[in-house]
Amino acid sequence: MVKICCIGAGYVGGPTMAVIALKCPHVEVVVVDISVARISAWNSEQLPIYEPGLDDVVKQCRGRNLSFSTDVHKHVSEADIIFVSVNTPTKTRGLGAGKAADLTYWESAARMIADVSKSDKIVVEKSTVPVKTAEAIEKILTHNSKGINYQILSNPEFLAEGTAIEDLFKPDRVLIGGRETPGGRKAVQTLKEVYANWVPEDRILTTNLWSAELSKLAANAFLAQRISSVNAISALCEATGADVSEVAYAVGKDTRIGPKFLSASVGFGGSCFQKDILNLVYICECNGLPEVANYWKQVIKINDYQKTRFVNRVVASMFNTVSGKKIAVLGFAFKKDTGDTRETPAIDVCKGLLGDKATVSIYDPQVTEDQIQRDLAMNKFDWDHPIHLQPMSPTAVKQVSVAWDAYEAARGAHGVCILTEWDEFKTLDYERIYQNMQKPAFVFDGRNVVDAAKLREIGFIVYSIGKPLDA
Ligand code: NAD
Repeated sequence: MVKICCIGAGYVGGPTMAVIALKCPHVEVVVVDISVARISAWNSEQLPIYEPGLDDVVKQCRGRNLSFSTDVHKHVSEADIIFVSVNTPTKTRGLGAGKAADLTYWESAARMIADVSKSDKIVVEKSTVPVKTAEAIEKILTHNSKGINYQILSNPEFLAEGTAIEDLFKPDRVLIGGRETPGGRKAVQTLKEVYANWVPEDRILTTNLWSAELSKLAANAFLAQRISSVNAISALCEATGADVSEVAYAVGKDTRIGPKFLSASVGFGGSCFQKDILNLVYICECNGLPEVANYWKQVIKINDYQKTRFVNRVVASMFNTVSGKKIAVLGFAFKKDTGDTRETPAIDVCKGLLGDKATVSIYDPQVTEDQIQRDLAMNKFDWDHPIHLQPMSPTAVKQVSVAWDAYEAARGAHGVCILTEWDEFKTLDYERIYQNMQKPAFVFDGRNVVDAAKLREIGFIVYSIGKPLDA
């Protein structure tokens, strides 16, 4: 029986390994993590992450060929294939601070693999890493090899949170990069055979190591770029009376462009887009390509601008001040169907409103009060000038409350901001919400999910991203 061990039981490690275990019943899969809390959650009924369909997959395999453990050394030493899916955040200090990937977790995982291994291993980069990371990992492993053969593969993960299980069941492609040596080719073949249990052969792509590593950064940069492009157009729509949904539809009908990822919004979030573009920017700078670096930087700048523009619109619409006014914030996760709040635009929007002394009442179906308070209390890292900005003042923290549903959040509010596209926000009883709000009652739809015409009939003043403004 092939033994797989995955280091890192997070948003990627957990779901990917659960699907491998489901689709490959003859493979034993163990997911290990240094976080005791995370592992005990994976072993409980309350999994540590919310992802549609995940509970079901875990239930089918846990105790059969899928397990979760904190005994990292034991399972790494016993494995044939080791996936490394640890976090690779942006560095916050030292060389490359604010842009480069922090590979501390990766390096310590590699050193630990070298320490505990007693047999040959295939080590798979599952985390998103800078191009050429495999070279560094190879150095660490081979210089500590004790005669063991290591093959390093790059197998970046393209799943999106909120649709992770669906993406893993039916991936657009699985990418495997390896060395063009007999050992490298054999390792690629071994990993291919794992995926071939459910992924059609023409969707399994093999490349050299560097192409695979760079493809992941490039894919995220392209996706984020589409969002920033449509958001840039949304600003122009508001200035001219064009409607961004109509423009995006017309543009997306061009088969060279396509319709996906063209929804205007308050901005993108999540743990990957900004981090991976910053990393790309840093790699360009290190390779003497400042103009290319500036090109990609602009994607993030537009994203920041879109959040600022949204806050400014709220304040300007509400007679140039939100001081002392209650604003209901519906949605805090960075997108629907996840409880993940990393880099969510809601953090910047809430901070902007709090900065103008609004009182903010937040409701999100999957985000806990603790998480919201933690996120809002955290310092914002300024990637352009890598210094930590001041944390929120204790008084600002007191201006925040967390509601247990949308109606409670909006009770007595002057305005409602929709910041996550949760389906339930489309079907709320907006009549009821309107009755319980201050008048005039405003809705600022940062995801273009509500029927603005219907809301206007009720009496709301509505602002939708990139749409003609309310009369
Ligand atoms: P995460 O923070 O949710 O999980 C990482 C886990 O690794 C944590 O639980 C941490 O405790 C564990 N860990 C760190 N060092 C360890 C060590 N030495 N031994 C054992 N465990 C260790 O991160 P994530 O969202 O799963 O992302 C992981 C990687 O995948 C990142 O590089 C990310 O960029 C990439 N990625 C993420 C997504 C996504 O949607 N989240 C999608 C594709 C790729």
